[in-house]
Amino acid sequence: MSSHRIEVGVLGATGMVGQQFIARLADHPWFDLTWLAASERSQGKSYASAAAWRLAAPMPAKCREMPLHACEPGRGPKVVFSALDAAAADTLEAEFAKAGHIVLSNARSHRMNPLVPLLIPEVNGDHLSLLAAQRRDLGWPGAIVTNPNCAVVVLAMALAPLRLFAIGKVLVTTMQAVSGAGYPGVPSLDILGNVIPFIGGGEEEKIETETLKILGADGGRSPYPATISAQVNRVPVIDGHSMTVSVLFATHPSTGEVVEALRSFRGRPQELKLPSAPNPAIVVMDEPNRPQPRLDADLGAGMTVSIGRVRPCPVQSFKFVALGHNTIRGAAGASILNAELMKAEGLL
Ligand code: NAP
Repeated sequence: MSSHRIEVGVLGATGMVGQQFIARLADHPWFDLTWLAASERSQGKSYASAAAWRLAAPMPAKCREMPLHACEPGRGPKVVFSALDAAAADTLEAEFAKAGHIVLSNARSHRMNPLVPLLIPEVNGDHLSLLAAQRRDLGWPGAIVTNPNCAVVVLAMALAPLRLFAIGKVLVTTMQAVSGAGYPGVPSLDILGNVIPFIGGGEEEKIETETLKILGADGGRSPYPATISAQVNRVPVIDGHSMTVSVLFATHPSTGEVVEALRSFRGRPQELKLPSAPNPAIVVMDEPNRPQPRLDADLGAGMTVSIGRVRPCPVQSFKFVALGHNTIRGAAGASILNAELMKAEGLL
């Protein structure tokens, strides 16, 4: 692996996910954060004056005075992380790829494009093979690589080791944090002391389709042959998407075998010791009342998926609870891990 540092930029640097990028890239061992961009509203301002900083850790000193640029393709470094609002990402990300940038995107815009990898490095690093077809068929000198929706990453990580038992049907009910809606997000009068059984933007459909692409074969062009039914809820939690999951298997593993499959799960990031790789990738908790977002979302610097209450299900085969940090494992941390895998594999 080459040891030179790579210059990177962030599109949508001022938003909730953009801030997580700033926090995680400011002292990254492989990447130099040199360029920040956002909308016209922020253009020309310093980062400190444009971003409504919402993270508990202070804004990194080196970023405070960095200027915010326009999201103009051809400007900025070759490698750019995108935390753009989906409406902006729809056109801008492809324009950046056409201008030669490698775009590591959080937005939904290109995730289901059959030529674009929808990547979780522990699960489907081999889907990066789509990049050759992407270059050939779309003629982009750059590329787009996406990470999944913030609820999907938790579900797909939990299901990946369970493919061993031949998954047939999955029922999932999510309890999703308010930070998942960006800033300022859901009005406080709507969410405090309440549960909202709806999340816009096709959240349930994303869970039902993206997960099968990730778990599928041939770069996701052959989706995993299971059926998923998702019901989503917005809950008054700041960070951390929880979900209760019930899975039907074609085989008949014991509880011990299911727990062992989850606990022993490892992937390329752990083998390669990538800087953002959590170890372990999945923690299985024995306490009957865990995982909980306030106690467990930050495990593994926000990159670990926590699973608990693994037990037989009287309707399907097994049921459990899963939790992951939505703006880290579900967004910025996921994108950075994608970039680390690409660098390790000589693709940056
Ligand atoms: P957000 O807080 O609303 O931030 C949106 C960012 O996009 C801001 O930096 C904004 O810049 C910029 N922007 C908006 N319109 C633009 C335009 N026309 N041109 C250039 N920049 C523009 O949203 P977020 O929660 O960080 O989410 C960012 C993306 O990640 C979305 O696509 C979202 O779906 C996805 N995502 C979010 C999560 C999560 O948990 N929050 C998880 C996974 C994926 P200004 O500040 O200048 O307006």
